[in-house]
Amino acid sequence: MKTVKGFILLNRDELRGFLASVLVDRNIREIQNHHTYLPDYSSYKRNSDPVKWLDSMKQYHVVNNGWSDIAQNITTFPDGTLAICRPLGQAPTGIKGHNAEGICIEHLGNFDTGKDTLTPEHKATIIHLNAALVERFRLGVNTDNIVYHHWFHEKTCPGTAFFGGNTREAAKKDFLPLVQAEYDRITKKITVAQTVEKPPLGFRMVVAQTLNVRSAPGAKQPKTGEVFAGSILAAFAESGGWVRISPSEERWVSATYLKVVHKGTVLADSLNVRTGPGTDYPVIGAVAKGTEVVMYETENEWFRIDPNEKWVSGKYIDKQG
Ligand SMILES: [Zn+2]
Repeated sequence: MKTVKGFILLNRDELRGFLASVLVDRNIREIQNHHTYLPDYSSYKRNSDPVKWLDSMKQYHVVNNGWSDIAQNITTFPDGTLAICRPLGQAPTGIKGHNAEGICIEHLGNFDTGKDTLTPEHKATIIHLNAALVERFRLGVNTDNIVYHHWFHEKTCPGTAFFGGNTREAAKKDFLPLVQAEYDRITKKITVAQTVEKPPLGFRMVVAQTLNVRSAPGAKQPKTGEVFAGSILAAFAESGGWVRISPSEERWVSATYLKVVHKGTVLADSLNVRTGPGTDYPVIGAVAKGTEVVMYETENEWFRIDPNEKWVSGKYIDKQG
């Protein structure tokens, strides 16, 4: 696993560990499968640096389309590697009307009939990725939770020959059974769990305006990046007042500028969000079952779940870490 230009590059085996460590503070209900169309397999054959293509897609989406970031949350490649492109906590620009609770995946290639043929490695990654997202977000292997762009728009995306076709019937017959088998394998086999990276010790919020990231614990160690006030970081190790904020990379920040925060999951079908800690405060929204929240502050069993005044009753929160 490594981060290049803001893109997190992963092997298939690193995915579940990554997903377990990342905070996603919105409800996820739809895993969107797309193909890039361009770049396609011949583009990737010409230049097999995933960052080159991610960068060019991002430029196109930001400069040409005027979007805030690259459209998709995740990209998969012909060699079976994958990249996290837009944070999973941020809604993608994938399928109109289906983004707020969606994860957008772009599979690099053109899978219309007669164009690119999915490589065995690419197939394995696409199947595993869908299964791992089903596991992570407690979804079902069905056509409500795993969707193709084509079902909502006239586009052929993710391609008329994507795993036997781009229709719901084709998905049910030729794709979902493979995802189900992979889901069964990863959730039942203990041997897989051993390769998964350790879950975080807990979560920390950055309280300094800007906090330097260093390559080792210590203020004199080389600076490799920055994190900003209000960011929620997963803590993976602690050493002499320093905290490692990556599961596998040497990225350390000083604990002096961190505040311990706890994470929880919403248990109620729909939990009211209020402007203060109690039922006499007005309701300003709701969070859905399964949504992960960060507890910034606690008062009388009420939790503030946002940097702003947004409170929920702690009775309906499954508290972790
Ligand atoms: Zn699409």
